[in-house]
Amino acid sequence: MVANASPPQGNFETQFSWIRSTGTYEAELRAVEAKIEEYFSGLQLPDRATIYDYLVLGLRGKDLIATFNWDPFLMEAHRRNRDVAELPDIRFLHGSVNFATCPEHDVMGVIGERCPTCSRALERSGLFFPDDDKDYTRDEIIIRDWNTTTNALASAFHLTIFGYGGPRTDFRARKLILDSWNESPSYDINHVEIIDKADYDHLVDNWREYFPHHHSLVQTDFWDSSVARWPRRTTEWKSLTSLYGEACEYIEPPRTEDLAQLQAWFADIAQVEPQRSNKCMESNG
Ligand SMILES: [Zn+2]
Repeated sequence: MVANASPPQGNFETQFSWIRSTGTYEAELRAVEAKIEEYFSGLQLPDRATIYDYLVLGLRGKDLIATFNWDPFLMEAHRRNRDVAELPDIRFLHGSVNFATCPEHDVMGVIGERCPTCSRALERSGLFFPDDDKDYTRDEIIIRDWNTTTNALASAFHLTIFGYGGPRTDFRARKLILDSWNESPSYDINHVEIIDKADYDHLVDNWREYFPHHHSLVQTDFWDSSVARWPRRTTEWKSLTSLYGEACEYIEPPRTEDLAQLQAWFADIAQVEPQRSNKCMESNG
């Protein structure tokens, strides 16, 4: 396959994008895409609690997770925890093998389900494959998720970039994120948090233009991040420290593989949210 081709050195995105750009290897390209779909469709979360559970339970309905990942993990975590507490919105900026929706109504479901409004069978969005010139507007479901994400960014208080390198082939995505983020009315006190194991200097260099007034938090470990230390209270923590200069104790959930134990802990703190949404200290313990 592609025996005489000379793709550039680089990662998967670079090489895939090159193969597509030649316009010569359509059959091979479809075969690679089918393999990718097959691989990601076969993935499944273990029964134990995972970081995906901590992540979706650690955020609230006002929050939004936008992912570039095709894997089914976030949807799986969302579905198995959605009765525990109000969970964040999730948007799939490059599609996902486990996300289906109604073209007319903005619902988050899976294949086999029907739209609660019009009863139409939910459709899966296409996967967006690496391309030097991604045109998100060519897929109506993808563009809907992009619009929701950029609208949320334009009024966001805290942006966390978790394990996303922002590859060269995503230059259009990077611009969409930056342009919206720059519109945030609280920009002057906003922070960008990076959770990534890459070299510190590289990360700062890669995301420098996203940091409002150099306000950056760079973590190599998820457990040191805001969502892990102040789950469901990140805004309250940020308000207290950024606006009032007050310390805010950690509100750390138990580190456990027992999903039922974790869900019970989160169900407990979710109960006080309407009454105590701006008093994170009182939520501790
Ligand atoms: Zn519908």
